Amino acid sequence: MAAQIIDGSKVAENIKLKVKAEIESIKSKCGKVPKLVAIQAGENPASKIYVKNQQAVCAEMGINYELKQLPAEIDEKQLTEVIKTVNNDVSVNGVILQMPLPQNINSRKMQMVIDPKKDVEGITPANLGLLLYSGVAPVAAPCTACAVIELLNSLNIPLKGKETVIVGHSEIVGKPVTLMLLNSLLESATPTVCHIATKDLAYHTSRAEVLIVAAGKAGLIKGNMVKDGAIVIDVGINRIQIKDANGAPVIDEKTGKPKMKTVGDVVYDEAVNRAGFITPVPGGVGPVTTTILVRNMLQLFKVQNENI
Ligand code: NAD
Repeated sequence: MAAQIIDGSKVAENIKLKVKAEIESIKSKCGKVPKLVAIQAGENPASKIYVKNQQAVCAEMGINYELKQLPAEIDEKQLTEVIKTVNNDVSVNGVILQMPLPQNINSRKMQMVIDPKKDVEGITPANLGLLLYSGVAPVAAPCTACAVIELLNSLNIPLKGKETVIVGHSEIVGKPVTLMLLNSLLESATPTVCHIATKDLAYHTSRAEVLIVAAGKAGLIKGNMVKDGAIVIDVGINRIQIKDANGAPVIDEKTGKPKMKTVGDVVYDEAVNRAGFITPVPGGVGPVTTTILVRNMLQLFKVQNENI
């Protein structure tokens, strides 16, 4: 039987309804709304799309959004000064440093300059560190990792003890998800983390009752690597060429270039016949991630305005 599709847009919509209602209520009580500042250095097609999505969701939620566009030639010292100025601006509640930064800049070093109280993406050492403590949630945690947990929770299936395999050990997805799955002292899942050096990936994935894939490799997880009835969360976002029946690229008549599509890391058409539940790409993790950003924003605002 084909898997049940986990509808990310529906999960996102539920979160948005709550965030919007709370922001409206705060606004009517005290006339204030949260303000988010995004800092972007140079131009990049990917981060342009992120900025557009962030602007749209903030507008929808009633959050003030400001983009600080900096030249690509900026150096670390100058960028540090910009971040510190935003940190010290009491009218700003949250900061995003858009990735990727220009190559001459050490992204991790710059992320560490962000005030943890304004760290809307939950990527500063102070906020990531809080994930280690059972039963303590940071005010803001990495958005994609939170999105994975929200999607799992939306199924109302207890994760206690479940064999859970995470493919990918990045700082924004794989590692924080793993810590979140271990958050409860008595009811945690049983996570195994796989990565580029894992010797036999299929051995691990095919015994996973819950499979979370965040590797950024289209086609990495084939249907026969998925356990029957598993819950599959596909975080990957990959752009690949559309092929015809003979395997040749389909050319766009207008541009003369190969037509492209977005896929995850899991071979969806195969896995859908094995899994019990599966997220599609697009329409799974992506919409929830954007929504977590605004929920994080609201949480930061509330902590900074304790009397509201
Ligand atoms: P990353 O490049 O920082 O990390 C990739 C991870 O995958 C590493 O741990 C690496 O060891 C592992 N990996 C790579 N190839 C592998 C292989 N062949 N076998 C096993 N493990 C392998 O990536 P990231 O930032 O965590 O992002 C992962 C994917 O998730 C990307 O496709 C990215 O675009 C996507 N993403 C989606 C969202 C969303 O909202 N849906 C958000 C963030 C990232």
